Amino acid sequence: MIKSFRAVILGAPGSGKGTISSRIVRKFEMKHISSGDILRNHILNKTPLGLDAKKYMDKGQLVPDEVMIGVVLSEIEKSSGNNWLLDGFPRTRKQAEILYKKAPIDAAMNLVVPFDVIIDRIQKRWVHLPSGRVYNIDFNAPKTPGLDDVTGEKLVQRDDDKPESVQKRLDIYSKTLGPVLEFYKEEGILEEFSGRTSDEIWPSVFKYLQSHLTPITQDIKV
Ligand code: AMP
Repeated sequence: MIKSFRAVILGAPGSGKGTISSRIVRKFEMKHISSGDILRNHILNKTPLGLDAKKYMDKGQLVPDEVMIGVVLSEIEKSSGNNWLLDGFPRTRKQAEILYKKAPIDAAMNLVVPFDVIIDRIQKRWVHLPSGRVYNIDFNAPKTPGLDDVTGEKLVQRDDDKPESVQKRLDIYSKTLGPVLEFYKEEGILEEFSGRTSDEIWPSVFKYLQSHLTPITQDIKV
Protein backbone atom coordinates (compact mmCIF):
# COMPACT_ATOMS: atom_id res chain seq x y z
CA MET A 1 0.00 0.00 0.00
CA ILE A 2 1.46 3.38 -0.98
CA LYS A 3 1.66 6.19 1.58
CA SER A 4 -0.33 8.90 -0.08
CA PHE A 5 -2.62 8.83 -3.04
CA ARG A 6 -3.29 11.76 -5.35
CA ALA A 7 -5.70 11.73 -8.22
CA VAL A 8 -7.63 13.94 -10.58
CA ILE A 9 -11.20 13.15 -11.50
CA LEU A 10 -12.44 13.83 -15.01
CA GLY A 11 -15.89 13.54 -16.52
CA ALA A 12 -18.25 15.36 -18.86
CA PRO A 13 -20.93 17.71 -17.50
CA GLY A 14 -23.76 15.44 -16.41
CA SER A 15 -21.50 12.40 -15.99
CA GLY A 16 -22.13 12.31 -12.24
CA LYS A 17 -18.65 13.55 -11.35
CA GLY A 18 -20.08 15.48 -8.37
CA THR A 19 -21.88 12.42 -7.02
CA ILE A 20 -18.88 10.12 -7.41
CA SER A 21 -16.49 12.70 -5.90
CA SER A 22 -18.65 13.11 -2.82
CA ARG A 23 -18.88 9.34 -2.37
CA ILE A 24 -15.10 9.07 -2.67
CA VAL A 25 -14.38 11.67 0.01
CA ARG A 26 -17.00 10.09 2.29
CA LYS A 27 -15.49 6.62 1.97
CA PHE A 28 -11.79 7.44 1.75
CA GLU A 29 -9.55 9.92 3.49
CA MET A 30 -9.03 12.16 0.50
CA LYS A 31 -9.21 15.92 0.46
CA HIS A 32 -11.50 17.22 -2.26
CA ILE A 33 -9.87 20.12 -4.09
CA SER A 34 -12.25 21.76 -6.55
CA SER A 35 -10.83 24.45 -8.84
CA GLY A 36 -14.31 25.93 -9.36
CA ASP A 37 -14.86 26.18 -5.58
CA ILE A 38 -11.49 27.86 -5.07
CA LEU A 39 -12.37 30.47 -7.70
CA ARG A 40 -15.86 31.02 -6.23
CA ASN A 41 -14.23 31.57 -2.82
CA HIS A 42 -11.93 34.19 -4.31
CA ILE A 43 -14.95 35.90 -5.85
CA LEU A 44 -16.82 35.81 -2.54
CA ASN A 45 -13.81 37.39 -0.79
CA LYS A 46 -13.43 39.93 -3.61
CA THR A 47 -9.71 39.19 -4.05
CA PRO A 48 -7.98 40.66 -7.14
CA LEU A 49 -7.70 37.13 -8.51
CA GLY A 50 -11.40 36.55 -7.94
CA LEU A 51 -12.37 39.74 -9.72
CA ASP A 52 -10.17 38.80 -12.65
CA ALA A 53 -11.41 35.19 -12.84
CA LYS A 54 -15.05 36.29 -12.66
CA LYS A 55 -14.75 38.03 -16.03
CA TYR A 56 -13.99 34.71 -17.69
CA MET A 57 -16.40 32.61 -15.64
CA ASP A 58 -19.34 34.91 -16.37
CA LYS A 59 -18.76 34.36 -20.07
CA GLY A 60 -18.42 30.60 -19.66
CA GLN A 61 -14.77 30.79 -20.70
CA LEU A 62 -11.78 29.10 -19.14
CA VAL A 63 -9.64 31.15 -16.78
CA PRO A 64 -6.11 31.52 -18.29
CA ASP A 65 -3.72 28.65 -17.58
CA GLU A 66 -1.12 30.80 -15.77
CA VAL A 67 -3.72 32.00 -13.25
CA MET A 68 -5.25 28.56 -12.74
CA ILE A 69 -1.96 26.75 -12.35
CA GLY A 70 -0.79 29.18 -9.63
CA VAL A 71 -4.05 28.92 -7.72
CA VAL A 72 -4.26 25.14 -7.81
CA LEU A 73 -0.59 24.51 -7.00
CA SER A 74 -0.76 26.74 -3.94
CA GLU A 75 -3.84 24.84 -2.72
CA ILE A 76 -2.02 21.56 -3.27
CA GLU A 77 0.99 22.84 -1.33
CA LYS A 78 -1.29 23.48 1.64
CA SER A 79 -2.42 19.86 1.42
CA SER A 80 1.06 18.35 1.17
CA GLY A 81 1.33 14.96 2.86
CA ASN A 82 -2.37 14.29 2.41
CA ASN A 83 -4.29 12.26 -0.11
CA TRP A 84 -6.25 14.47 -2.44
CA LEU A 85 -8.73 14.34 -5.25
CA LEU A 86 -8.53 17.22 -7.67
CA ASP A 87 -11.77 18.13 -9.41
CA GLY A 88 -12.19 20.62 -12.29
CA PHE A 89 -8.46 20.73 -13.01
CA PRO A 90 -6.77 20.16 -15.45
CA ARG A 91 -8.94 21.52 -18.23
CA THR A 92 -6.10 21.85 -20.79
CA ARG A 93 -3.07 19.77 -21.72
CA LYS A 94 -0.76 22.54 -20.50
CA GLN A 95 -2.39 22.43 -17.05
CA ALA A 96 -2.05 18.63 -17.04
CA GLU A 97 1.63 18.73 -17.98
CA ILE A 98 2.59 21.34 -15.40
CA LEU A 99 0.61 19.64 -12.65
CA TYR A 100 2.33 16.34 -13.44
CA LYS A 101 5.74 17.98 -13.28
CA LYS A 102 5.16 19.87 -10.02
CA ALA A 103 2.90 17.39 -8.25
CA PRO A 104 3.00 13.97 -9.87
CA ILE A 105 -0.36 12.30 -9.49
CA ASP A 106 -0.99 8.58 -9.11
CA ALA A 107 -4.06 8.37 -11.30
CA ALA A 108 -6.33 10.28 -13.63
CA MET A 109 -9.79 8.82 -13.02
CA ASN A 110 -12.05 9.34 -15.99
CA LEU A 111 -15.79 8.72 -15.74
CA VAL A 112 -17.13 7.51 -19.07
CA VAL A 113 -20.87 7.87 -19.55
CA PRO A 114 -22.31 7.58 -23.08
CA PHE A 115 -23.31 11.04 -24.34
CA ASP A 116 -26.79 9.85 -25.37
CA VAL A 117 -27.39 8.78 -21.76
CA ILE A 118 -26.29 12.19 -20.46
CA ILE A 119 -28.49 14.03 -22.95
CA ASP A 120 -31.45 11.82 -22.12
CA ARG A 121 -30.98 12.32 -18.38
CA ILE A 122 -30.58 16.09 -18.56
CA GLN A 123 -33.59 16.43 -20.85
CA LYS A 124 -35.73 14.83 -18.17
CA ARG A 125 -34.78 17.52 -15.66
CA TRP A 126 -37.41 20.18 -14.91
CA VAL A 127 -37.11 23.03 -12.44
CA HIS A 128 -39.33 25.33 -10.45
CA LEU A 129 -37.43 28.54 -11.02
CA PRO A 130 -38.60 30.62 -8.00
CA SER A 131 -37.53 27.95 -5.47
CA GLY A 132 -34.83 26.09 -7.42
CA ARG A 133 -36.58 22.73 -6.80
CA VAL A 134 -35.38 20.18 -9.35
CA TYR A 135 -37.42 17.21 -10.61
CA ASN A 136 -36.50 14.32 -12.84
CA ILE A 137 -39.19 12.52 -14.78
CA ASP A 138 -37.51 9.14 -14.21
CA PHE A 139 -36.67 9.08 -10.53
CA ASN A 140 -38.06 12.20 -8.85
CA ALA A 141 -41.18 13.10 -10.82
CA PRO A 142 -43.55 15.86 -9.67
CA LYS A 143 -46.88 14.59 -8.30
CA THR A 144 -48.70 16.34 -11.17
CA PRO A 145 -46.79 16.35 -14.47
CA GLY A 146 -45.38 19.80 -15.25
CA LEU A 147 -46.27 21.36 -11.88
CA ASP A 148 -44.32 22.10 -8.70
CA ASP A 149 -45.35 19.90 -5.74
CA VAL A 150 -45.37 22.77 -3.22
CA THR A 151 -46.79 25.76 -5.10
CA GLY A 152 -48.52 24.07 -8.05
CA GLU A 153 -46.72 26.52 -10.33
CA LYS A 154 -45.38 25.60 -13.76
CA LEU A 155 -42.06 23.78 -14.15
CA VAL A 156 -39.67 24.78 -16.90
CA GLN A 157 -36.60 23.38 -18.58
CA ARG A 158 -33.43 25.46 -18.10
CA ASP A 159 -32.01 26.82 -21.36
CA ASP A 160 -28.81 25.07 -20.37
CA ASP A 161 -30.64 21.74 -20.14
CA LYS A 162 -32.20 21.86 -23.60
CA PRO A 163 -30.84 19.15 -25.92
CA GLU A 164 -29.04 21.53 -28.27
CA SER A 165 -27.26 23.31 -25.36
CA VAL A 166 -26.29 20.04 -23.74
CA GLN A 167 -24.94 18.70 -27.04
CA LYS A 168 -22.91 21.89 -27.45
CA ARG A 169 -21.43 21.63 -23.95
CA LEU A 170 -20.53 18.00 -24.55
CA ASP A 171 -18.86 18.83 -27.87
CA ILE A 172 -16.76 21.53 -26.19
CA TYR A 173 -15.90 19.09 -23.42
CA SER A 174 -14.68 16.39 -25.83
CA LYS A 175 -12.64 18.86 -27.79
CA THR A 176 -10.84 20.36 -24.79
CA LEU A 177 -10.51 17.23 -22.69
CA GLY A 178 -9.26 15.02 -25.55
CA PRO A 179 -5.65 16.24 -25.29
CA VAL A 180 -5.74 15.94 -21.48
CA LEU A 181 -6.84 12.29 -21.70
CA GLU A 182 -4.21 11.67 -24.35
CA PHE A 183 -1.50 13.03 -22.04
CA TYR A 184 -2.54 10.79 -19.14
CA LYS A 185 -2.73 7.80 -21.47
CA GLU A 186 0.83 8.51 -22.62
CA GLU A 187 1.95 8.65 -18.98
CA GLY A 188 0.18 5.35 -18.31
CA ILE A 189 -1.95 6.65 -15.43
CA LEU A 190 -5.37 6.93 -17.10
CA GLU A 191 -8.02 4.84 -15.30
CA GLU A 192 -11.44 4.69 -16.95
CA PHE A 193 -14.71 3.84 -15.21
CA SER A 194 -17.69 3.31 -17.47
CA GLY A 195 -21.40 3.04 -16.88
CA ARG A 196 -24.77 4.60 -17.50
CA THR A 197 -25.40 5.83 -13.95
CA SER A 198 -23.36 6.73 -10.86
CA ASP A 199 -24.64 3.59 -9.14
CA GLU A 200 -23.30 1.52 -12.01
CA ILE A 201 -19.92 3.27 -11.96
CA TRP A 202 -19.41 3.49 -8.20
CA PRO A 203 -18.52 -0.17 -7.42
CA SER A 204 -15.57 -0.16 -9.83
CA VAL A 205 -14.35 3.21 -8.49
CA PHE A 206 -14.62 1.88 -4.94
CA LYS A 207 -12.78 -1.32 -5.80
CA TYR A 208 -10.02 0.60 -7.55
CA LEU A 209 -9.48 3.03 -4.66
CA GLN A 210 -9.65 0.20 -2.15
CA SER A 211 -6.58 -1.30 -3.76
CA HIS A 212 -4.68 1.90 -2.88
CA LEU A 213 -6.37 3.20 0.28
CA THR A 214 -8.18 1.83 3.31
CA PRO A 215 -11.86 2.81 3.38
CA ILE A 216 -12.87 4.98 6.37
CA THR A 217 -15.59 2.59 7.48
CA GLN A 218 -15.65 -0.93 6.23
CA ASP A 219 -19.02 -1.96 7.55
CA ILE A 220 -21.16 0.44 5.51
CA LYS A 221 -22.61 -1.01 2.35
CA VAL A 222 -21.13 0.58 -0.76
P1 AMP B 1 -16.56 24.36 -12.40
O1 AMP B 1 -17.21 24.60 -11.06
O2 AMP B 1 -15.46 23.33 -12.34
O3 AMP B 1 -17.54 24.08 -13.50
O4 AMP B 1 -15.83 25.72 -12.80
C1 AMP B 1 -16.55 26.92 -12.99
C2 AMP B 1 -15.76 27.86 -13.87
O5 AMP B 1 -14.49 28.16 -13.29
C3 AMP B 1 -15.43 27.31 -15.25
O6 AMP B 1 -16.47 27.50 -16.16
C4 AMP B 1 -14.19 28.12 -15.62
O7 AMP B 1 -14.53 29.42 -16.04
C5 AMP B 1 -13.48 28.24 -14.30
N1 AMP B 1 -12.52 27.13 -14.09
C6 AMP B 1 -12.60 26.13 -13.15
N2 AMP B 1 -11.56 25.30 -13.26
C7 AMP B 1 -10.81 25.75 -14.30
C8 AMP B 1 -9.62 25.30 -14.92
N3 AMP B 1 -8.97 24.20 -14.50
N4 AMP B 1 -9.13 26.02 -15.97
C9 AMP B 1 -9.75 27.12 -16.41
N5 AMP B 1 -10.89 27.59 -15.88
C10 AMP B 1 -11.43 26.92 -14.83
